[in-house]
Amino acid sequence: MQKKSPPKTYFSWHIIAIFFACCNTTDKGERTNHDTATATPHGAESKHSDRPAHWEYSGDAGPDEWASLSPAYSACDGKSQSPINLISAGAGKGGSKLNFDYRSSSLKIAHHQHVDDIIDNGHTIQVTVEEGSTVTINGKIYQMKQFHFHSPSEHTVDGKHMPLEMHMVHQSDDGKLAVVALLFQEGPANKNLQQIIDHMPAKPGDSKHYTDVKLDLSVHVPPNLSAFHYSGSLTTPPCNEGVEWLVLRNKFYLSKEQSTAFASHMHKNNRPVQELNGRLVGTVKMN
Ligand SMILES: [Zn+2]
Repeated sequence: MQKKSPPKTYFSWHIIAIFFACCNTTDKGERTNHDTATATPHGAESKHSDRPAHWEYSGDAGPDEWASLSPAYSACDGKSQSPINLISAGAGKGGSKLNFDYRSSSLKIAHHQHVDDIIDNGHTIQVTVEEGSTVTINGKIYQMKQFHFHSPSEHTVDGKHMPLEMHMVHQSDDGKLAVVALLFQEGPANKNLQQIIDHMPAKPGDSKHYTDVKLDLSVHVPPNLSAFHYSGSLTTPPCNEGVEWLVLRNKFYLSKEQSTAFASHMHKNNRPVQELNGRLVGTVKMN
């Protein structure tokens, strides 16, 4: 039966006088995966009409071109895109409630190269998690599906990148997405990240399930949690908007060696920061 996460930890979301410019009501197709197959005689580019268009982090298929690569990626030119620059002194306050219930999961890891799907992000090291870990935002429950990494970070804080950003991607029963992001800076080694590094697939395209390796996901929710909260998008095509973003303000660390390990596997897989376009960023804090 359905496991209801026991309401454990409540946070309140303090708003300052700002307000969202209202944009996250347009869900441009929650499930656009593979719908280039059905789309239109639009592009001379669709050599592979049954597959999503190929995209990259630089060059002819780089971030500035994503929206033009396929009609399915048109949201990449939207007004509520991610990542963004976060201003530590500028985030407002609000009244939202959060509840995290993160559990442990076995390690099912993949080095994706070209998986262009709303849940399975391409170009990254990704861990698919077992069911049962949730975040609840204002009463709406989102199940964690996977987490993956970007090196360097995609979000910047006061204009600065960190060496690594981790995205925990959640989806609600009605298909809405929420991403909880952790920014790692150099410092002491991180145990969970080391487990991942120790089992990283040797080359792009490989994947493996280590049923005996357990990851404790609760370590990613510190007791004094504080987060930037805003409405954005997937940071990879199809760039769907209406995504709830929680970027933790707490400090997380990884060692220089760990940072190098991720960087050498992922080769700069960060989308540049996007315009805010009037959106407001708040802070959620634990009481
Ligand atoms: Zn991501």
